[in-house]
This record gives sequence, C-alpha cells and structure tokens, in this order.
Amino acid sequence: MEASISGFCVEMQNIHKFYGAVHALKGVELRVKRGEVCVAIGPSGSGKSTLLRCINQLESISAGRVFVKGELQGFVERGGRFHPLPPSRVAAQRRSTGMVFQRFNLFPHMTALENVMEGPLHVKGWSRERTRAKATELLTRVGLNGLAGRYPAHLSGGQQQRVAIARALAMEPEVMLFDEPTSALDPELVGEVLDVIRDLAQSGITMVVVTHEIGFAREVGNHLVFMDQGQIVEEGHPRAVLASPKNPRTVAFLSKVL
Ligand code: ADP
Repeated sequence: MEASISGFCVEMQNIHKFYGAVHALKGVELRVKRGEVCVAIGPSGSGKSTLLRCINQLESISAGRVFVKGELQGFVERGGRFHPLPPSRVAAQRRSTGMVFQRFNLFPHMTALENVMEGPLHVKGWSRERTRAKATELLTRVGLNGLAGRYPAHLSGGQQQRVAIARALAMEPEVMLFDEPTSALDPELVGEVLDVIRDLAQSGITMVVVTHEIGFAREVGNHLVFMDQGQIVEEGHPRAVLASPKNPRTVAFLSKVL
C-alpha cells in the first residue's frame, strides 16, 4: 500500500483532470482532516463535481495523486512508476467513500429498507439480521422511522434523499461525499435534508459537501474551498472567507449569490 504520511482523511496532490480537450481540474491541492466538514462552493462548471468524482474514483484522474486515509487511490507505485490497480482493488477502495448524488439513484424496485440493506448484505457479506438491524437504525437516524417498507415512488424527494444518505452510511465509509444533495429538491424539502447532513456533521463524520447553500456552508462547514475554472482559488474557515473574501473571483461570485 502506498501511504501518505500526512494523516489527512482526504488528500489531493496536484490533481489534473481532462475530459477530452476540457481541462476540468488544474492542479488541485486539497487536504481534509479527519472529522472536518469541507464545503465546496463556486460557479457552475468550476469543477466541484469532478473534484468529488476524482476522490471516489468515479472519474480517473489525468495526473496527480489522491489519498484516502493515507492510501493511494487507484494506483500502486513501484520503482517510481504508477501502475493502475485491478478493478477489484479499485472497488474495495471505493467503499471507503460514501457518495450522495443530486439525484437520489435509489433502486426503484426495492423498499427504503431494502435499498439501505443492499450494500452491507451483498458487498460486505453481513448476515440478514445484522444488516436489517443496521439499516433500521440508519433509517431512524435520518428521520424515516415508519417508512422502511415504502418504495421510492411513494416517498417525497427529501425522503428519497434521506434514504440515499442512509444507504451510503450503511457501508460505514471513512468519508461522505455530497454532490449538491439538495439541488434537485423542491424548496420546502431542502431543510429536512440539510438537517440530516448537519446532524451527521455534528457526529464527527468527515465530509466533503458541494453545495449552493451558502448559509448552510457557513453554519456547518469548518473548511470552505471556493473553486473557479478548475482551481481552488481561495480556502479557509467558512465564516472568514464568506465575511471577507480575498480573491476577486470569490468576491464576484459571492456578490451574486449572497
Ligand atoms: P461543477 O460541479 O462545478 O458544475 P463539473 O465538475 O460538473 O463542474 O464540470 C467541470 C467542467 O468539466 C465543465 O466544463 C464541464 O462541462 C466539464 N465536464 C464535466 N463532466 C464532463 C464529462 N463527463 N465530459 C465532458 N466534460 C465534462
């Protein structure tokens, strides 16, 4: 295992990502400590989603190194050269991150409980009893006690997103990644999902949250990164950055959204 000695939960070193000719990430450096709630903001197309997708290997990086809990992701370094890991090792590494998407991506033919049980049962190989107990506990944690037997089509968007959060937590990831988790929701459903994420943040789970909710970023985050054109152009404590941004691009963005 290629280990980083830094002790960060997530570490990105000089990450570049190209989609064909599009240079979506341009030398990104990101360090997220254990227990930190890192919030990423910035204009549409600035690379926030790509950043998350490179952490959990949904996208392959074009250059640089990603570590999760000190383990190099996707590659093994031998004799100064990087060799891609086989798919089985990549799949195992991907389990250390839990991803929550804009669209909830639940299995439509499974109940809320079955959706949450799927990973531990089939990937972790837990017993049905243990998995059911864990899934029930998680559904209660996200406020869905009593709705375990519902199918996604019979849940509101906010409820579906809370099932998706419980499903990601069921795999006991080292870090939770949220990609604009409330942007597909009707406004009146945003609060219930943010409440769940706030609760998780307070429980000490390490998270990276891409969000348009600046008030939420200020209140819940303890590390804010502002992205523009594939780069992190400013970072710091959310209250400090949001109150007195230093970079002109951050100033311009915040003047539009605050
Ligand atoms: P954000 O999340 O900040 O809106 P993205 O990470 O989605 O930004 O996109 C960053 C850039 O990469 C944009 O120019 C976008 O058009 C481009 N991009 C994202 N995904 C793809 C893809 N699958 N293929 C080609 N270009 C992409």
